[in-house]
Amino acid sequence: MKLILLGAPGAGKGTVAKLLTAIDGSVQISTGDILRGAVQAGTELGREAEAYMKRGDLVPDTLIMGIMEKRLQEPDCQKGFLLDGFPRTIPQAEALKNLLVKLNIRLDMAVNIDVPREVILDRLCTRRTCENPQCQAIYNVKSSPPKQEGVCDKCGSRVIQRDDETEEAISHRLATYNEKTAPLIGFYEKEGLLKTVTGTSSDTVVSELKAALNF
Ligand code: AMP
Repeated sequence: MKLILLGAPGAGKGTVAKLLTAIDGSVQISTGDILRGAVQAGTELGREAEAYMKRGDLVPDTLIMGIMEKRLQEPDCQKGFLLDGFPRTIPQAEALKNLLVKLNIRLDMAVNIDVPREVILDRLCTRRTCENPQCQAIYNVKSSPPKQEGVCDKCGSRVIQRDDETEEAISHRLATYNEKTAPLIGFYEKEGLLKTVTGTSSDTVVSELKAALNF
C-alpha cells in the first residue's frame, strides 16, 4: 500500500504505520525518525535540522525534499510505503506530487487520523522514546511503560523524553500543525485522495483502513 498518514503530533501516525507494515511489508518512512537519527549521528543534515526540531519548528522544505527524493527511490519502497510525518506543508505536498509523477508512483490514499486535542496533549506529555536511532520504540508512562523503568524492552537502550516533548515545545508543535499542516487536509480532499478516520485507538484506525483498502 502507498499511503500518506496525516494527523497532529501524537495522533498515532507512527503506531498505525507500524501496524500496517506488518500487513503487506510496506515500509514506514518517518521524516522525524530520519532527522532524529541524523542529529544523533552528528551528520551535516542533523546539524542543520537540530535547532528547528528543538524549538518545535518545521525543518526547511528543501532539506526534507532532499531526504524524500532519495528515500522513495530505495528498493524497499517498491512493496509500498507509509509516509509518517511527511508532507507537513503545502509546498512539500506540491513537491511530492511532482516527485511521484516523475517516479511513476500512484498513491492509494491520504489518511487523516483525527484525534481530540485533549487526548493528543495527554499522549505527548506522557510519551517516552527509545534514544537508539535504529530503534526509536515508543512508550507511554501511563498506558504502555517499558518493563524496566527507563530501559527499552526491544534493544536495552535508554528510554527518554524527547527534547521537543516539553510542554512548551508541544504547544508550539501543535500551533505549527494547525497553521502549516492542517491545510493539507483540504489539499488531499481536492486531489480525491482523502480518508478521515476518527478514533483514539490505533487498532480501530487500522481495521477501518484495512476495510477501505480491501486487505
Ligand atoms: P515528528 O517525529 O514527525 O513529530 O517530527 C519531529 C520534528 O522533526 C518536527 O517537529 C520537525 O521539527 C521535524 N520534521 C519531521 N518531519 C518533518 C517534515 N516533513 N517537514 C519539516 N519538519 C519535519
